[in-house]
Amino acid sequence: APTGPPRSRRRYHVSDLFTRAQRVIPGGVDSPVRAFGSVGGSPVFIDRASGPFVYSRERQYIDLVGSWGPALLGHAHPVVVDAVQRAAERGLSFGAPTEAEIELAELVIDRVDPVEKIRFVSTGTEATMTAIRLARGFTGRDIVVKFAGCYHGHEDSMLVAAGSGVATFGMSSSAGVPKGTVEDTVVLPYNDREAVTQLFASHGDRIAAIITEAAPANMGVVPPEPGFNAFLKAECEKSGALLILDEVLTGFRVSRAGFWGIDQATPYEPDLLCFGKVIGGGMPLAALGGRADVMDHLAPLGPVYQAGTLSGNPLATAAGIATLTLADDEVYAAVDRAANALSDGLSRSLTSAGVAHTIQKVGSLFSILFSDDPAGSYDDVIAQDQFRYAPFFHSLLSSGIHLPPSVFEAYFVSATHDEEIIARILDAAPEAARAAAE
Ligand code: PLP
Repeated sequence: APTGPPRSRRRYHVSDLFTRAQRVIPGGVDSPVRAFGSVGGSPVFIDRASGPFVYSRERQYIDLVGSWGPALLGHAHPVVVDAVQRAAERGLSFGAPTEAEIELAELVIDRVDPVEKIRFVSTGTEATMTAIRLARGFTGRDIVVKFAGCYHGHEDSMLVAAGSGVATFGMSSSAGVPKGTVEDTVVLPYNDREAVTQLFASHGDRIAAIITEAAPANMGVVPPEPGFNAFLKAECEKSGALLILDEVLTGFRVSRAGFWGIDQATPYEPDLLCFGKVIGGGMPLAALGGRADVMDHLAPLGPVYQAGTLSGNPLATAAGIATLTLADDEVYAAVDRAANALSDGLSRSLTSAGVAHTIQKVGSLFSILFSDDPAGSYDDVIAQDQFRYAPFFHSLLSSGIHLPPSVFEAYFVSATHDEEIIARILDAAPEAARAAAE
């Protein structure tokens, strides 16, 4: 998520590195959530990472951040590192097409049926930004619908307040975004079919697209109600709008074919999908893909412009190919096992400590909601006992467990989080649960 709740009132130690970083980098970080703003204290400055571990100069941590998603196979998988090293020896960037881009495109198309063509970019933000431009260019319409609490990167038109209740026509949640840029973004409450139906009834002929996280995981995990994405697609289809399924976080993580792959009880085909994180195996790589007739509206074939000096970078595509090739059924089974054992164990500790909570889960992605009532929307998520997270987080951190530093983020496990690693986390859980109870 772009931001977290206000800085924790408790005082935690501030490290020399963080003090030094803050002198030269705004907030000491290159992406806001890393600053520990909502939990207080100092971020861990990472020196290296391997398998389920990240290391500061001083100590080892079991990592549950996983680079915010890419580290499906664990950090620095030797086959992936070797692929990147071999690519590096052949040159770092060419600004010309490579066979590796075709190979990675074919791997994705093979896994995710609705992807007929794909374009590689460098970040998830670029992927969603381009998908939105493409949807507008293809339909000739301006309005884009997003859901409160869904994060699609820091493109201007997506930095819109998490409005609640009735549809709100754009109010940016960031300074520096001109009013006009967000005027055509409509924010609706997540999982609210009625709100979608009403909006399409009144504005359907002006809507270019709905963009939605395949399964939201940037307000903590909030599972879509069964059939919600299929319903969105049906609404879009009726009015000639496109459905953009943002799988930047879920893609190739919750299954071979992302969340779409496990969401086919009511079958549907998104028009465009966005990928990031796992697809680049830890290197800067992301993509948008989907219907060939829509994708062919991109330059150089069509009128919708998009470009990138480093798009399809050879080191990034090498990491992506190695990662997707290794991510077989066994990997997904291992990640699911780890997530189940971990979420069950954390929940047991919280129950024993008397802490009201719900495990919010989608495949191997989960988060802890500090409320007895499951959350289906951003309003529900905001209403939880947010203050319980900082003490829970810091107790685990002092036991050598590196959790996402915000209650609004999912926990990421990898195929290297085996039974012993999960047991080590769960040994530390009762004390953290007691800290959360206070
Ligand atoms: N979309 C989703 C669902 C995300 O989770 C993120 C990042 O967390 C993005 C888009 C933006 O990706 P990036 O940070 O690579 O720009």
